[in-house]
Amino acid sequence: MGPQGSGKGTQAQLFARRHGYRILSTGDILRKEAMKGTELATQISNTMNEGGLISDELIFKVLRNHINELPKTENLILDGFPRTEKQAVQLDSVIDVTCTIYILLSVEEAVQRISGRVQCPEGHTYNTISAPPTEKDICDVDGLTLSQRKDDNEDAVRHRLAIHEKEIANVLGHYRTQQKLFTIHGDATIDEVSQEIEAKLAPYAN
Ligand code: AMP
Repeated sequence: MGPQGSGKGTQAQLFARRHGYRILSTGDILRKEAMKGTELATQISNTMNEGGLISDELIFKVLRNHINELPKTENLILDGFPRTEKQAVQLDSVIDVTCTIYILLSVEEAVQRISGRVQCPEGHTYNTISAPPTEKDICDVDGLTLSQRKDDNEDAVRHRLAIHEKEIANVLGHYRTQQKLFTIHGDATIDEVSQEIEAKLAPYAN
């Protein structure tokens, strides 16, 4: 968990590659749903483009379907879920959360970072300033074309950050009570943040 631009997607990818975890990113799942051309897809796409949250009921249904398709033994990293306390409670009913990481970042740093963010359709993310791809506009992993997300404009980002501020305290409280929360400062380099995550998760990881 963390505000937009905190690096949660990047860190999830690094950790998953090293330890063989599967990432379920609700943002990536919704972006794929939004391309389907149905009425529901249009609703999802409008909400996302404005920087709003998809309803707890809908997002949980979508996520649960994805979880149910996976072998029970699969190790998962959830990126972007839960974002509300209700989602955290719903999640407890389907999987046993081992621990959570919250990456802290200031609003101004978040806005600045997101303005340089580009990603491929599979969700591999780069920053044109701090972590550019080897070849301009091309994903290093799968060779697909990189583009900026529609919701990465300043208005939508500030809206998303305001919602995040409002909702996240209760989510963190949920995991703090369960003694499953680690907090990490996200304003260090990608490598430094990654090392801190590795250190915190060493007792749990494969
Ligand atoms: P992300 O890629 O994590 O930044 O998510 C992009 C957008 O997808 C968010 O701004 C929301 O509109 C939507 N979204 C992703 N995850 C959730 C969630 N857990 N609950 C509600 N909406 C979500």
